[in-house]
Amino acid sequence: MGGPEVERLIGLLAKLPGLGPRSARRAALRLLQSPHTRMLPLATALADAARAVRTCAICGNLDSHDPCAICENPDRDRSIICVVEGVGDLWALERAHVHRGLYHVLGGTLSALDGMRPEDLNFPSLLSRVRGGEVAEIILALGATVDGATTAHWLTERLQPLGVAVTRVAQGVPIGGALDVLDDGTLAAAVRARRPA
Ligand SMILES: [Zn+2]
Repeated sequence: MGGPEVERLIGLLAKLPGLGPRSARRAALRLLQSPHTRMLPLATALADAARAVRTCAICGNLDSHDPCAICENPDRDRSIICVVEGVGDLWALERAHVHRGLYHVLGGTLSALDGMRPEDLNFPSLLSRVRGGEVAEIILALGATVDGATTAHWLTERLQPLGVAVTRVAQGVPIGGALDVLDDGTLAAAVRARRPA
């Protein structure tokens, strides 16, 4: 249906998170029915974002500037770094306005099942940030899963000897790659109720 261009469009849309083949067909149809008001502006936005957005060399955030706007912001508290699994978690915390410090994106959690090893984590740059001497507290905002707990333990063992306070956000919250499903109040409470790791 619709020719190879449409098939390709649907195939690409279906790979997006939250979209299966059925939703992809509906989205493609909606776009095709409004080529000038919806489809071309979307195509331009995609191309612009792909060209402009890069990974912040300091924290791992995605932004059109490197270092990112958060790392560059002089009003952020540079003595507190919140460690998250992914950029989605960082964005969720930012939306909730619960953290006035900086971030560090690990890029995953240690996982025997998924083959994530320590060398796969964006950890060396965190280490050098802490060794820079400006950091007083590291907040671990990782998932309340076995992998999240394993990773938090692994990080704590390595960071504490450097003389920084290592804390963890309140447990019992289904976080870790899923922070953005939490409402802002729950997220804020979890960060405020952090305790020593
Ligand atoms: Zn950054």
